[in-house]
Amino acid sequence: TKKNGRNNMTFYDPSIQQADTRRMVMEDNLHRAVANDEFELYYQPKIHVKTGKIAAVEALIRWNHPVLGQISPAEFIPIAEETGLIVPMSEWVLHTACMQNKRWQEEGMSPMRVAVNISSVEFGEDDFVTKVVNILEETKLSPHYLELEITESVAIKNVGSVIEKLDALKQVGVYISIDDFGSGYSSLSYIKKLPIDALKVDRSFIQDLKANQTEETIVKAIITIAKSLQLDVVAEGVEEQEQVQILRKERCDEIQGYYFSKPLPVSEFEQKYESIERH
Ligand code: C2E
Ligand code: CA
Ligand code: CA
Ligand code: CA
Repeated sequence: TKKNGRNNMTFYDPSIQQADTRRMVMEDNLHRAVANDEFELYYQPKIHVKTGKIAAVEALIRWNHPVLGQISPAEFIPIAEETGLIVPMSEWVLHTACMQNKRWQEEGMSPMRVAVNISSVEFGEDDFVTKVVNILEETKLSPHYLELEITESVAIKNVGSVIEKLDALKQVGVYISIDDFGSGYSSLSYIKKLPIDALKVDRSFIQDLKANQTEETIVKAIITIAKSLQLDVVAEGVEEQEQVQILRKERCDEIQGYYFSKPLPVSEFEQKYESIERH
């Protein structure tokens, strides 16, 4: 029958078998990735529109697998979350990013925030705030130079404890932004209650941003909302000059995207820094 045929197809489909194998290999190897030094952080600047200087750098994880090559976080973070390996991985990310930023300051670079992405699993841990505080103490990075990027969905999933945790982080002096803003389902009345510093406009709104089109109206509206809540507003995924011009006109505070720089390994980022800051 048709039904059987379909089942058989699924069973024998070699591409599915390969995908399964790849996943199994990743799941198995993820345990050793921290110890084997296979993770690397790439850094992408957020440009302060008014001054043209670097306001922050976002740390984005890469997995350099000895056999599979470089694997994107979009592929392995879901596995890390399901297996709980996200917890040690995230600690490594936070520690490495804070240490790197402290090192840059000691080397004489103008102080900038380092922004770290926080997954819902990580944020949901009872000792999340304690971990952040400990890492700041260990690395001696001033809390004002650490930014945590938390997605709308994280904020919604943990309604009970989210405000409490954000308040504690705010008290410490950490900068907090809502990532992928506009892509989720958070209501404005909820966002208004959160002790946050910035909204990061989701890339989907920036992607098709052109003058005199619907996207411009939407982005304009988001910027107005952010300003009325006294929040900084950041645009991500900016690739074209026209987008930069519109965002500048609408008084967006910070811009990030391939237009200025893609995410880069440390040494390449340092070269980029020179070329941006000397401008
Ligand atoms: P995200 O936080 O929304 O990061 C933005 C993604 O867009 C990054 O992909 C970045 O490389 C990419 N991007 C930046 N500028 C442009 C642009 O101008 N055009 C386009 N087309 N893309 C741009 P990436 O590095 O592959 O990261 C994907 C996602 O993985 C991130 O989305 C974030 O949710 C997650 N992620 C990355 N690193 C970490 C980490 O250390 N911890 C956690 N928990 N999640 C991470
Ligand atoms: Ca982010
Ligand atoms: Ca984002
Ligand atoms: Ca995203």
